[in-house]
Amino acid sequence: MRQAHDSVAVRRRNLGLVLRHMADNGPCARTEIAAATGLSHASVTTMVADLVARGLVSEDGVLHGGGRGRPRRLLRMIPRRAATIAVQISSEQLRVAVADLAGTIVWRDAAPHRGAAGVPAALADAVAAAVRRANTAAPPDAELVRVAVAMAGPIGDDEAQTVLAAPDFGWLRSVRLRALIAARLPELTCPIEVINDANAATLAEYHAHPARPRGVVYIAAGTGIGGGVVLDGRIHTGSHGIAGEPGHMPVAIDGPPCVCGARGCLVGYAGPEAVLTAAGLGEVLRRDGLGPAADRLAEALARRDERALAAVDIAGRALGTVILSITSLLDLDEVVLGGVLAQWFPWLGPVIRHQFSGRRALVPTAEPEVTPALLGADAALLGVIEFARRAALSDPATVPRRHHS
Ligand SMILES: [Zn+2]
Repeated sequence: MRQAHDSVAVRRRNLGLVLRHMADNGPCARTEIAAATGLSHASVTTMVADLVARGLVSEDGVLHGGGRGRPRRLLRMIPRRAATIAVQISSEQLRVAVADLAGTIVWRDAAPHRGAAGVPAALADAVAAAVRRANTAAPPDAELVRVAVAMAGPIGDDEAQTVLAAPDFGWLRSVRLRALIAARLPELTCPIEVINDANAATLAEYHAHPARPRGVVYIAAGTGIGGGVVLDGRIHTGSHGIAGEPGHMPVAIDGPPCVCGARGCLVGYAGPEAVLTAAGLGEVLRRDGLGPAADRLAEALARRDERALAAVDIAGRALGTVILSITSLLDLDEVVLGGVLAQWFPWLGPVIRHQFSGRRALVPTAEPEVTPALLGADAALLGVIEFARRAALSDPATVPRRHHS
């Protein structure tokens, strides 16, 4: 019995191996898949027949291999056979997208959810409504295989994917957001996953980074300050699933009290609220929201307003301190600043770099490279699409067979 169970699991895993190879490398022949995956040619043939029966792969061409040997049949993935829905929850709105297995967005929408954020059940209502709208917009012949939701706040590595806290939403206790959303979507047959929004954004920025670095530290300011660490191409989640949260790293032992209960956290110096308040734009932030207030700060910086420059100087020194702590410990040299930190980067960057000077006694050449994020407000949404896509590609058996092979 155990053996039968194992062989089903192995077959599912091998199906995923074969489909992922096609997704990553484009149209190819069976022999190439066998060579790349280490599966036998017979096994690849079986897996391909299964994927064809599920409508995920077509065999629609002939590849002539340099005049020698038999022509090989060319296999290609059919991205539109399956769809994923990605939702990004931010403090002001829900972004939602439908994507195919190539990661191409086929539909997207954004809607504000003012008032819902503070109440988990109300937020789950809004997410469920967004997923339903997206599902209606998905191509009718595509199988919905995965819903992935990016949420601000640390996510536990438990089965329930519990949101441990979301201080920026006023959630100071853990919330089983995934279960709340699933209960509102009983008609949904595919898995729902909740991941940290900054981890999703880190993954997207890592893939977009032109240097293809070994590792990336991502620090982004939006509602508060989030972030992530990617090591060797994978998100480093840590012992409890909550690694890469720089917002509440201590900058000063006796600094100002923080919403988290500690003192002197990074967010108290470099968080949007702290920076904008110090720059005299706290009222604009409360009245008009983050986007307009952040724009006003950029304008003030451009005309070299003294209060604005002083606020960014404090933020830059605090960021430099935290970046030195992180990169010194992990020996990572690529730091990407996202959210409003990317917008303010022309002024923040020099302050941060100045903070590094003279701090490299052991390895003088090892200075972290700090760059602004490339993907803007879309980073988390693109990352959660990629996360859902990888999960779907790894388990093609979630797409039913259309006919018997
Ligand atoms: Zn804190």
